[in-house]
Amino acid sequence: MRRLCTPWVVVVVAACGGGRADVRHGGDLAPPQTEGLIVADDVAGRLARLAPVEIDVADELIGDELRPALQKLVEAAAVIDELYLAQVSEGNAALRARLAAEPAMADALAYFDVMYGPWDRLAEGEPFVGSERRPEGVTFYPRDLTREAFQGYVEAHPAERDALTSYFTVIRREGDALRAVPYSEAYRDPLERAARLLEEAAAVSSDERLARYLRLRAEAFRTNDYFDSDVAWLELGDGPIEVVIGPYEVYEDQLMNMKASFEAFITIRDPEATAQLQTVSSLAEQLELALPVAEGHRNLERGSTRPIAVAYELVTAGDARAGVQTLAFNLPNDERVREEHGYKLVLLRNVLQAKYDLILVPIAGRLVEPTLLAEMSFEAFLNNTLMHEVAHGLGPGRIRRPDGTQTDVNRELRDLYSTIEEAKADIVGLFCSQWMIQNGHLDRAMERPLYATFLGGFFRSVRFGATEAHGQANVIQFNYLLERGAIRTAGEGRYAIDYGRIREGVSDLARELLAIEGDGDYARARAFVDRYGTPTEELLRGLGTLSGIPVDIRPSYPAAARVLAAR
Ligand code: ZN
Repeated sequence: MRRLCTPWVVVVVAACGGGRADVRHGGDLAPPQTEGLIVADDVAGRLARLAPVEIDVADELIGDELRPALQKLVEAAAVIDELYLAQVSEGNAALRARLAAEPAMADALAYFDVMYGPWDRLAEGEPFVGSERRPEGVTFYPRDLTREAFQGYVEAHPAERDALTSYFTVIRREGDALRAVPYSEAYRDPLERAARLLEEAAAVSSDERLARYLRLRAEAFRTNDYFDSDVAWLELGDGPIEVVIGPYEVYEDQLMNMKASFEAFITIRDPEATAQLQTVSSLAEQLELALPVAEGHRNLERGSTRPIAVAYELVTAGDARAGVQTLAFNLPNDERVREEHGYKLVLLRNVLQAKYDLILVPIAGRLVEPTLLAEMSFEAFLNNTLMHEVAHGLGPGRIRRPDGTQTDVNRELRDLYSTIEEAKADIVGLFCSQWMIQNGHLDRAMERPLYATFLGGFFRSVRFGATEAHGQANVIQFNYLLERGAIRTAGEGRYAIDYGRIREGVSDLARELLAIEGDGDYARARAFVDRYGTPTEELLRGLGTLSGIPVDIRPSYPAAARVLAAR
């Protein structure tokens, strides 16, 4: 729900076709374990769309001091992994063992490990092992329970509503009744093991706030009450270990979008980027004052930008590791915690780097003019990503109607809000980078790379869906800047930046988007999206040439392995 902000997090991948056939077992030598197991015949091709990559962390960042706690946390993550696999399907552990027993099933096993089960998360959940359809509510509900029946039951039993609709219960049948079983009971054994490991990590950690979070989270695993530990996570501060572990996202529950899946992110804070973010935070008010927006629309009440951390991913587990790899997460999800205590965004630097190298650069290699390609850099990409997030906190939020009453941008722009807000975050982010360059807060040598990398990023964002908010937001920016001559065609289906026009183009587009938001003007937003939101034929042709480029990465974690090996 809330993990999705940076464009890469949401990737809707077109279902890949391909029929299924019996796997060839090598005649009579087929071991009995996989007898009758049907595997999609294109599983090797599906696996090949995910580029294998080592997500690593330099040993200097880990050091002898952090290692003991990290060892326990990596072990706890492994428990979460096992728990999540069972949340997806009760049969998963046995099915995985069958695949692992058969060398000819190596690709299917590798793909199973990405998907955490037999259903392809990049093909709308269709089975690639066996033929059983994915139950919408996986293991969270009785298989035969429909949405309507569940809702009807909840209506008829108001006293049980909270328990039945909790994020942290599974629903079981008892005769004609439905019973809500707390996670602490349903998953008692793995949660107890994970809790002990968190307590052991706390005992060897010199970071008191981290130790407090870990102890409270261990308690939550036993009591099923996550509130205090969610708050403690927000109070972690700037310690070197940034970890989140527990039940969070509800995507797996496609029946009700209600039950949370277990996941873990074990990460090490990036001191360099954290310092850069502190600089940007300290400039928040000046940036707000610099925006090309009417005085009445300036938002000087937000106080500061929202908390953002940049970290290196050491290892992830469970829901965080399944399918498309997350490059940022924004937690907690509990609205009560968010209202009272806020939330925090963590960007995963080494994951960003891997996607930049393995996906963005190859895409730009086909669609961006070669001289511009040479100007792109990961540093610029990281900067653009950070500034996109910072820009979400700038500009109109709460707005005043002409009659004096208050409303907010989100409510006024309705279905167009996400598209306009994402375009605003990109463009205002770029505008702010430019302002920082002009005012000596960012190296002038970054100027061209920022724009070149920005252009390269467009194509990646629209690749999987010009209709989804991030994709459409990018189409709008692209078409607007093309019309203004700030982006130009460069022959052979390639594009370039006109450095003489880009600054003005960005500034004008920022002014337009901020005015739409500041006025809460739905009609103007509609007209703007209608005018600029459709990709040109030429752009679509260009996107059509990208089919051989990976759609995502498939990580391994050598630094986590080194941490464990040092036990
Ligand atoms: Zn965003």
